[in-house]
Amino acid sequence: MSTTTRVPETGGETPVLRLDQVRKSYGGNEVLKGISFDIKPHETVALLGPSGSGKSTLMKCINLLERVNDGQIWLGDTDITDPRVNRDQCRSRIGVVFQQFNLFPHMNVLKNVTLGAIKVHGVPKDQARERALELLDRIGMKQKAGAYPDQLSGGQQQRVAIVRSLMTDPELLLLDEITSALDPMLVGEVLEMVSELTDKGTTILMATHEMSFAHHAADRIVLLLNGVIAENGTPREVMDESENPKTKEFFSHFR
Ligand code: ADP
Ligand code: MG
Repeated sequence: MSTTTRVPETGGETPVLRLDQVRKSYGGNEVLKGISFDIKPHETVALLGPSGSGKSTLMKCINLLERVNDGQIWLGDTDITDPRVNRDQCRSRIGVVFQQFNLFPHMNVLKNVTLGAIKVHGVPKDQARERALELLDRIGMKQKAGAYPDQLSGGQQQRVAIVRSLMTDPELLLLDEITSALDPMLVGEVLEMVSELTDKGTTILMATHEMSFAHHAADRIVLLLNGVIAENGTPREVMDESENPKTKEFFSHFR
């Protein structure tokens, strides 16, 4: 797809994602007050911030589940906030996993993983099946292809949800607090899968409260406080070295 305008140049390669002065309000509540940042190819960016700071809202704007009130969001060289854009086509370029496992309880793993790819994104059935089994095999869950969600642990369900999000080879993966609803014992296996994706060069934006994971796995930290970006830097710059009192106050809760 092409649009009439071009993504603004900053020199270097085109970012996978560019947010330019994104604003979003619910009624009189301005949640996002002009958010701008880029994600470069193969980067893993951790989106941090207190509950209610707008992380999920931002993710929903990127995934076109919410419309921005102002500003632009570029996916590669597509301005996805352009009203003329093909929303389904944009969505198929982005993989999304939410906090709650949203697997359909009445469908087995294989069906859950392939359904969206087949019905929404038009992937031929055989091809979807083959791809799903290959991805499940990679995480050691091929033998669970016929299992139903309630026969899996929460961690396994969430890993299946990640597999599902990878079916269309998305340019960007959005992970919204994907371990927050898990039994602490099951967090590790899910984060390990994220780590593997990070190592393979998947481009990821992840909202999380897992600070030590963000510190070692993220290339960059974006900290959202009161609707604005308080920090955008390496984990070390933001988590260890920032002199911003609000930043320090935020991280003090996790020590
Ligand atoms: P986070 O994911 O960082 O916890 P959210 O993006 O869920 O934050 O919420 C940010 C703010 O937006 C909160 O004040 C929340 O109440 C508000 N909000 C989120 N979704 C809606 C909605 N659909 N309608 C009205 N207000 C909303
Ligand atoms: Mg949230």
